[in-house]
Amino acid sequence: MALTAELQQKFTRKYALEMDDADDLAKYRTAFLHPKLHGKKAIYFCGNSLGLQPVKARDYLQEELDDWAEYGVEGHFEAKRPWFKYHHYFTQSAARLVGAKESEVVMCNTLSVNLHLLMLSFYRPTKKRFKIIMEAGAFPSDMYAVETQVKMHGFDPKTAIIELTPAKGKHTLELSDILATIKKHKNTLALVMMGGVNYYTGQYFDMEKITKAAHEVGAFAGFDLAHAVGNKVLHLHDWKVDFACWCSYKYLNSGPGAVAGLYVYEKHAKDKKIFRLGGWWGHDEKTRFQMKKGFKPMPTAESWQLSNAAVFNMAAHRASLDIFDEVGMHALAEKSLHLTGYAEMLLKSLTNLKFQIITPEDSTQRGCQLSLLFKSKGKETFEALKKASIIADWREPNVIRIAPVPLYNSFEDVYTLYDVMKNIS
Ligand SMILES: *Cc1c(COP(=O)(O)O)cnc(C)c1O
Repeated sequence: MALTAELQQKFTRKYALEMDDADDLAKYRTAFLHPKLHGKKAIYFCGNSLGLQPVKARDYLQEELDDWAEYGVEGHFEAKRPWFKYHHYFTQSAARLVGAKESEVVMCNTLSVNLHLLMLSFYRPTKKRFKIIMEAGAFPSDMYAVETQVKMHGFDPKTAIIELTPAKGKHTLELSDILATIKKHKNTLALVMMGGVNYYTGQYFDMEKITKAAHEVGAFAGFDLAHAVGNKVLHLHDWKVDFACWCSYKYLNSGPGAVAGLYVYEKHAKDKKIFRLGGWWGHDEKTRFQMKKGFKPMPTAESWQLSNAAVFNMAAHRASLDIFDEVGMHALAEKSLHLTGYAEMLLKSLTNLKFQIITPEDSTQRGCQLSLLFKSKGKETFEALKKASIIADWREPNVIRIAPVPLYNSFEDVYTLYDVMKNIS
């Protein structure tokens, strides 16, 4: 089919550059440090694995090092940002990012740890209700967490874990199938625990409908938002999601192993009868330093904290969240829609390579990531991208994941990807 002239001009670098010129968020590209590959500034499409370093991260870290040098232990109270309440500096931003009340969120620990801590509270199986529904092919850490939690309670993962699998010939899940599976196990279901966005396919799930269906059968619903936070506009509180956790080193650009977040629905956070493992930082703030016997949890998500704040790990997170606070998720999601849509349009036109985009076409069912499943030449394509200083992500057996991130990727980046792929023979 011949392209109309109007459509044809979109397949040019000139058009991509015009789009960048018209982009209000283009200026944030220079708020990040872009890595090099083969001595050339790389085009980075791996923000879904490890986000880029905010330029200001170094200053924020240096500030804490300086305060440590200057004050020693007094830094807990005398530092420019006193360390004893360092986790408070994220409350407002984290609540905005996931659509929660301030009492429902806290930044602490790391992601897999938080998932375990939350499952200790929300997976309390009985002889009758012991099943967990999750996606087949979830991120390995989530699979292992669910498997070992089930075993800890004396159940058999084979019967206790119900995996959602795509229909034959499909790569992603249908909402109707997810809801039907919840109904099917209605009398034995304890928990639905899924990714908000599946890390492999990039599919974004309807957390509101899934949560509602779980509640209708008397089960809890929790989500791992590793690939959803900083990517999609979320409304956890309004959706009545019971719990969620996320890491901050993917779309949230806070550095390798950076601090994770957790969310607990207000009603549960206030409920002292819900079990949580105790540590002094989860203990009531008013009496925390009295060092007395008897764990009194805070009536907020902060009661799931165990330890005092990991300040160095959190300093870079501040640098990143300052940018998110300035830009806002709505503006990011809006650009993301266009940027990923542009990538999809260009890549779909390629006829020299045999691949299929397995990420849903429907933009309400995806974020910025596109997953390309190759029939052949997947690895060769990946190597060719690398040679052209394009950093993408390879997943066995033959998927290339690319994430055009609205904060620091440009339309020209996307065009270059297309141009390099077009010239692979
Ligand atoms: C990235 C990711 C993790 C990683 O867990 P860590 O504890 O941060 O190492 C876990 N689950 C999902 C779904 C992820 O995408």
